[in-house]
Amino acid sequence: MTALSDTDMLIGSSFVAGTETPENVLNPKTEETLIELPEASPDQIDAAVTAAGKAFTSWSRTTPAERSYLLLKLADRIEAEAESFATLEALNCGKPRHAVLNDELPGVVDCFRFFAGAARTQHGMVAGEYLAGHTSMIRRDPIGVVASIAPWNYPLMMAAWKLAPALAGGNTVVIKPSEQTPLTMLKLAKVIADIFPEGVVNVVVGRGESVGNALINHPKVAMVSLTGDIATGKKVLTAAAKTVKRTHLELGGKAPVIVFDDADIEAVVEGVKVFGYYNAGQDCTAACRIYAGEKVYEKLVADLASAVSGLKFGQSDDSANDIGPLISARQRARVASFVERASELNHIEIATGGRIAGSQASGKGFFYEPTVVAGALQSDEIVRREVFGPVVSVTRFSDVEEAVSWANDSDYGLASSVWTKDVSKGMATAARLQYGCTWVNCHFMLVSEMPHGGLKQSGYGKDLSAYALEDYTVVRHVMVKNG
Ligand code: NAD
Repeated sequence: MTALSDTDMLIGSSFVAGTETPENVLNPKTEETLIELPEASPDQIDAAVTAAGKAFTSWSRTTPAERSYLLLKLADRIEAEAESFATLEALNCGKPRHAVLNDELPGVVDCFRFFAGAARTQHGMVAGEYLAGHTSMIRRDPIGVVASIAPWNYPLMMAAWKLAPALAGGNTVVIKPSEQTPLTMLKLAKVIADIFPEGVVNVVVGRGESVGNALINHPKVAMVSLTGDIATGKKVLTAAAKTVKRTHLELGGKAPVIVFDDADIEAVVEGVKVFGYYNAGQDCTAACRIYAGEKVYEKLVADLASAVSGLKFGQSDDSANDIGPLISARQRARVASFVERASELNHIEIATGGRIAGSQASGKGFFYEPTVVAGALQSDEIVRREVFGPVVSVTRFSDVEEAVSWANDSDYGLASSVWTKDVSKGMATAARLQYGCTWVNCHFMLVSEMPHGGLKQSGYGKDLSAYALEDYTVVRHVMVKNG
């Protein structure tokens, strides 16, 4: 086992190990156990919620400037320790380290900086006499203790997306990272404890059915924020109904990519090669469901298959890798079974990939070849269900009506893109898509100022942007009788 430090949970101001069943935390590149981490007990979970509740009294009364100052300090510390955060995230998730360092860490730091600024610049309705002799004003106040539950695909980034707006809004937090990828959150807990008052942020680890379930059912938790599976989102809603908790749900996605006949095919191929396969496709916005116009379909499939077959993974020199392995054996088996079922259909052609793989050094690791599934039909499982792996399907369409109706014909509604040289066609198509985000001639471009979140079963509530700060605060009306 690798020697790891900073593996204790943070409850109030104490760093403590869990006392329940240990969870094997793996290195997905080698399949080796990194650490066996005992999960939080019901008493420890209760102590974390109690500590957050106690801290809320004073934290909720801090000024935006005070909260902003601490969030900026946190951003600076993460930036200063970016190299070691990147190493640990890469170790626990199997991602290429350069991708974590150059793509994810700057986003994490910027998220904290953005909400540090946003906390001080909130806008609202003007105060005034809406009833004669009475002055009304709008307040935006914190909600209380937020239970934040994060997934394994971007552990540190999801922690930032959840912590920054919640803290900026004056809430206190109990956060549970995924049982598969808790390490960077535990390292972050050490930094947080140096900066924030006791109990403002608490970190507990463990499985969803035990620790997560206890959190979402805790009567003192006022809001649950989840990024995860639709099935988990439904469990959160059922639990929340019992005490009418607020919920913020970021669930899965199956992003359609509409490629019109007039698109710049070279740009489409480059875009999908990167953003269909980034993080080995374990991304809820992955460009995974292509609809290609009839005139460009053949060229797109051929060029994409050729480009994708050149993606590097499993190389001993990590700086050469474009993507890493999947997170677990289970996730790889799930991805493989989707492709296997698709390949049994006569109309499907696996244009490239389609097999499990291993690392150059040992043959181990949960790798799967980057795969293009061509000839897919709208009714095929591979088009309809979230694969969450390095697999992109391509479906031929005949006109814009068909493309838009197929793109919208999905249980998901998170992200989408449209590719065309005709900007007005791009705008008109974007207006008709039922997705939280539509990119035109690009895909997966995130900025802290713009909201990220879904429609339909992809959930609701926004991450990033001033809208997230709204989600983590409540509007209140105060009316004063004059004279
Ligand atoms: P998951 O739902 O299995 O787990 C997410 C988190 O929920 C984990 O911390 C887990 O322990 C916890 N959890 C599981 N069961 C629970 C329960 N009964 N009660 C409380 N907590 C519980 O999802 P995952 O496999 O970790 O992540 C992959 C999923 O997340 C994919 O479906 C993906 O699309 C989605 N995702 C969505 C977004 C987005 O922004 N919409 C971003 C990243 C990932």
